[in-house]
Amino acid sequence: MFLLPKNWILVRDTKLTGKGVFVKHEITGGTVIGDYLGTVVHPDDIEDTDGDFYDLTWSEKASVVADPETLGVHLVNHSCTPNCAMFPFRGHIIYFALRRIFAGEELTISYALNPPEADELVLFDTCRCGTPVCRGTLYNSPAVNARYYQFEEKMGGNYFHRLPGSYGTQLTLLDEYPEFVRDYPVYDLFGSWKHRAALFGDRTLPSVSTLRMLIRESGRQLSFPKMNFAVCGILNGLVVTTTK
Ligand SMILES: [Zn+2]
Repeated sequence: MFLLPKNWILVRDTKLTGKGVFVKHEITGGTVIGDYLGTVVHPDDIEDTDGDFYDLTWSEKASVVADPETLGVHLVNHSCTPNCAMFPFRGHIIYFALRRIFAGEELTISYALNPPEADELVLFDTCRCGTPVCRGTLYNSPAVNARYYQFEEKMGGNYFHRLPGSYGTQLTLLDEYPEFVRDYPVYDLFGSWKHRAALFGDRTLPSVSTLRMLIRESGRQLSFPKMNFAVCGILNGLVVTTTK
């Protein structure tokens, strides 16, 4: 379910990914976008997806399976440099804008799948986001996923180890949601690749927390012409730059 005004969202076909979710209006960094609603099932009971991902792993005991025919954040495609992220809230997973999102941009999220077991045959998990840091797959490394799991456990609090609902039940909207989620260093954060970078006259690199704040507020990559490079984003806590 989206928590933005309905007329802000446009679902349309894309070249590579089937459907994509686009926004018609600019969105401020941190804005809560939606709640991942669906049926609560045991992860072992999820059927093969044939390359479509409409289930969200909540814990070792629970996944949420969304109905692809309904409009909701389950339609948001993967990118290795997403503009949205997941955040645990009262037993639900909500999506929020990692940074300012420009009108017309596609909403994206990291699916952060766990890598397959050594003997598991996988045919459909290729990423085609096309960004310069594309991993080529929908997987995160086990170390990165472990770090995110710890974060989710901490932020999920008492809700984390409970089922979000009994098996077979449909999650419904909560009574209230936060309007914004603050920035946390656990999230990778990149400025848009399609909009011009923001210009800065600094001769020394600002702190990582300042870089994050600048990317989140502007939605842009950060160009430092006096140092002859631009900061594209932050990946696993590392500053990613390009010469420009
Ligand atoms: Zn990618």
